[in-house]
Amino acid sequence: MTTPGTLRVERVGVTVSGRDLVREASLEVAPGEVVALVGPNGAGKSTLLRTLYRARRPTSGRVLLDGEDVWRMGGRRLARRLAAVMQETPGEFELTGYEVVAMGRSPYKRAFQGDDAGDRKIITDALAALDVTGLARAPFDRLSGGEKQRVLIARALAQQTGTIVLDEPTNHLDLRHQLDALRLVRGLGVTAVIALHDLNLAAAFCDRICVMDAGRVVADGPPARVLTPGLLAEVYEVDAEVTIHPGTGIPQINVLPGLPLSGSGGSASPQPGHEGSTAP
Ligand code: ADP
Ligand code: MG
Repeated sequence: MTTPGTLRVERVGVTVSGRDLVREASLEVAPGEVVALVGPNGAGKSTLLRTLYRARRPTSGRVLLDGEDVWRMGGRRLARRLAAVMQETPGEFELTGYEVVAMGRSPYKRAFQGDDAGDRKIITDALAALDVTGLARAPFDRLSGGEKQRVLIARALAQQTGTIVLDEPTNHLDLRHQLDALRLVRGLGVTAVIALHDLNLAAAFCDRICVMDAGRVVADGPPARVLTPGLLAEVYEVDAEVTIHPGTGIPQINVLPGLPLSGSGGSASPQPGHEGSTAP
């Protein structure tokens, strides 16, 4: 049974050793919606995502998947509904590419139950979708960062969940595979929350952009509404132009190099007294 994938993050806080890594973060994602989670390094994106796939228990607040608290669900039940592609790839895998993807089927099995023809088709299809069929027999440990990443996305695909959470899935990927991976996730029609650094990719592939800064959600909405020069200056401390692509209507961010905003105030104000002095 496929679940619709309604995700509700309700005022989630994560405090570790007295430090608030996430503060009162709320997020609602409708079935099939694709949301980008962006923000500077250390903003709390990975920590928030960990609370969704149950790798870090919230100190306060709740995470509800289709109305059920993920922290009260059985592990297998959650794994049938939510798949995660994490940032840190476990290095101890002594498995082939195929075997890593086959792990995606384990929530549907009893201990030591083998793969049937249906499983094998799902696994081979997932390998093909991520363009890693040729790596099926290769030891996972020896793959490049990008190849590992694609195999791990294939594993999440084989899990056939209604919701998928990805933490910087495009990090090690070349341009074509970045586009392929995001196109694929989009095309699945499942609910997706994706931590991304590339704001242009976020704008192109996601319905909404949720911006985190210093543990808080500071903006959330459609890309064109969220990605403004003002927000980029405030959150990322960069000077950027945002234009709307005439063909696609997608906002495009052009970060201006070498023009850091001066000081802490952030506004590059013209020197007083020079206005109107532009006569030739
Ligand atoms: P992001 O993914 O947005 O870059 P993270 O969620 O990884 O940010 O980290 C948020 C902040 O929490 C960072 O300052 C990081 O150093 C800190 N942090 C992450 N994990 C821990 C931990 N286990 N203990 C203490 N601090 C942590
Ligand atoms: Mg992170």
